[in-house]
Amino acid sequence: MKLETIAIHAGNHIDPSNRAVVQPLTLSTTFERGEDGEYPGGFNYTRAGNPNRRSLENVLARLESGVDACAFSSGNAAGSAVLQSLKPGSHIIAPDDMYHGLRYLINTVFNGILTVDYLDLSDLDAVASAIKPNTRLIWIETPSNPLLKITDISAICKIAHEKGILVCCDNTFATPVFQQPLDLGADIVMHATTKYLGGHSDVLGGTLITKDNNEFWERIRNVQVLSGAVPSPFDCYMAVRGIKTLPYRMRGHAANAKKIASYLQSHPRVEQVFYPGLSEHPLHEVAKTQMSDFGGMLSFTFKGSSDETREVSNNLKLFIRATSLGGVESLIEHRASVEGPDTKTPKNLLRVSVGLEYIDDLIADLEQALK
Ligand SMILES: *Cc1c(COP(=O)(O)O)cnc(C)c1O
Repeated sequence: MKLETIAIHAGNHIDPSNRAVVQPLTLSTTFERGEDGEYPGGFNYTRAGNPNRRSLENVLARLESGVDACAFSSGNAAGSAVLQSLKPGSHIIAPDDMYHGLRYLINTVFNGILTVDYLDLSDLDAVASAIKPNTRLIWIETPSNPLLKITDISAICKIAHEKGILVCCDNTFATPVFQQPLDLGADIVMHATTKYLGGHSDVLGGTLITKDNNEFWERIRNVQVLSGAVPSPFDCYMAVRGIKTLPYRMRGHAANAKKIASYLQSHPRVEQVFYPGLSEHPLHEVAKTQMSDFGGMLSFTFKGSSDETREVSNNLKLFIRATSLGGVESLIEHRASVEGPDTKTPKNLLRVSVGLEYIDDLIADLEQALK
């Protein structure tokens, strides 16, 4: 089956007792035992499992062609579960432009528990020579934030697997619609379902999806159930509902982003556009081999000061000034002022989450704001 079909059916369950076409919310935290002490409904307590969460995990595993998925209360909780499942003292390799929330998590909560090298993962020699006897994990995030850098997933997996190292890929920007990291060799895929999978900026969530049901995955399942950073049944319901339209939404996001990228590229006041679908992107060729389309995220630098750049975002009427991404509405963000004083992000850079509004309206808004 193709993704459009999986997205609609794999997260649904028709209860034979009432035949509701859409699976209802099951809010009960506890489930009745049979006289023999078993749990005939298949659930005993909601931290350990819930019908809505099971449906969400089913559709997530199927979308990424994995064998199992764990749903979490946020993307960071999902990332944290991978780190918690590593033996203390393990060394990890992560991208130098890793999602700042996860980087901050590693540097604070896991400080003293794990050691980390942040590298430019497009430099494969640097990755190979950073591997130590206790390296257990290479973390990939592609395309990355906010410069839309591309990492060659197959090449990193080859280096890692020769040494028995796990690879986890944050696939939040590409989504399974455009990139399938497990097929490219990754062991685990991570998503902030908060973004495109939920798709409407109204539910927080995260997930891990595995290629194999191995011992490491058992540790992750234990972290999920015992640490308990699980999504509520309503969160699961909302995520399942959002996922049903994911393949169609992604086509719209990518088509709009492509048009905005070429519009901005030809604008005299724009310095540079960062979008992996542009042939000028330094890793466009790698992107083409592992992505079927290039997603809805882009950044650009404006020919002006930090203040003038922020003025462009203030002039916009449709694009909303806000962080996050992946919703139906277009968002724009001055990253440097979000990331703080020691950021490496250019002060004249704006990051755009291109939404599903009609393309001519979006371009007209950019046109008036850039004047
Ligand atoms: C948002 C995001 C996360 C974290 O997800 P939360 O739900 O905010 O915890 C991780 N990685 C990427 C690429 C993200 O965009």
